Amino acid sequence: MPENPIYPELHDARAHWRYQPPGDLMKGRVVLVTGAGSGIGRTAARTFAHYGADVVLLGRSVDKLERLSDEIVAETATDPTIVPCDFSSTDFDNYRELAEAILRHYGRLDGLLHNASRLGTRVPLEHYASDEWRRVMRVNLDAPVELTRALLPALRHSSCASVVFTSSSVGRKARAYWGAYAVSKTAIEAASVIFAEEHEHEGIRFATLNPGATRTAMRAAAYPGEDPFTVPIAEARMDIYLFLLGPDRGSRPEHQFDARDWTPL
Ligand code: NDP
Repeated sequence: MPENPIYPELHDARAHWRYQPPGDLMKGRVVLVTGAGSGIGRTAARTFAHYGADVVLLGRSVDKLERLSDEIVAETATDPTIVPCDFSSTDFDNYRELAEAILRHYGRLDGLLHNASRLGTRVPLEHYASDEWRRVMRVNLDAPVELTRALLPALRHSSCASVVFTSSSVGRKARAYWGAYAVSKTAIEAASVIFAEEHEHEGIRFATLNPGATRTAMRAAAYPGEDPFTVPIAEARMDIYLFLLGPDRGSRPEHQFDARDWTPL
């Protein structure tokens, strides 16, 4: 991938990355990305494929996933698998079926990027609508925890499995008006620590990642007054995604990462 002009945004972003991975970093790795149809998830899945990964694209819009899959097939030597899935209406049995299908098709899962998220409303807790609270918790907390539980058998078949939960600055320090989103991100930080301690002996690595301000639809919805051109594009963040989902993280002891402030050493 490194000299690939087919994806110029990624090619240009690399010049500023803290971590310079080899072009075949992800070759032989099977990586599932949730919320792969748009935003950071779309960029991460495309980037992983450009670095050689077999990607499993999970998202709620078949059209978006098919468009991404066609793009990846045209640009790389990999052939993605599409998993249409709306987290607000999927349960543990569905995730178990997905895990069995992944084991049958690939024999293992090496990377799991929990990226899908719902912003919810930006109102005081006093006025937060109960149904929206439940939707945000379902998508941002219940689904990633249940999906991880279901996929553990497939992760155990990897010699170097990595699971990353996407957090946020309000998942590390809650702030007024961030409601269910902040509470769900705080809880996913806790869930990740628990998974990490419970599966350390199996060599499955867990981490939480705050991507920091990134130019996406969610960022625009959260900060409508901001000029999007002042915000970095997702490709600028991909060094840490490759580092955490690839084989180079090794046994680094940290659990919390921030894309704006980290070092690969
Ligand atoms: P986007 O809104 O652009 O993308 C969110 C993704 O989640 C989309 O693919 C969306 O699918 C998917 N999604 C939403 N609801 C569901 C659902 N019910 N079932 C399945 N998938 C769903 O957000 P970003 O790319 O900005 O965010 C990616 C991650 O980064 C999130 O976890 C977010 O919290 C986090 N983050 C982002 C920051 C930023 O500045 N952008 C800053 C800090 C954290 P669809 O395409 O169908 O809408």
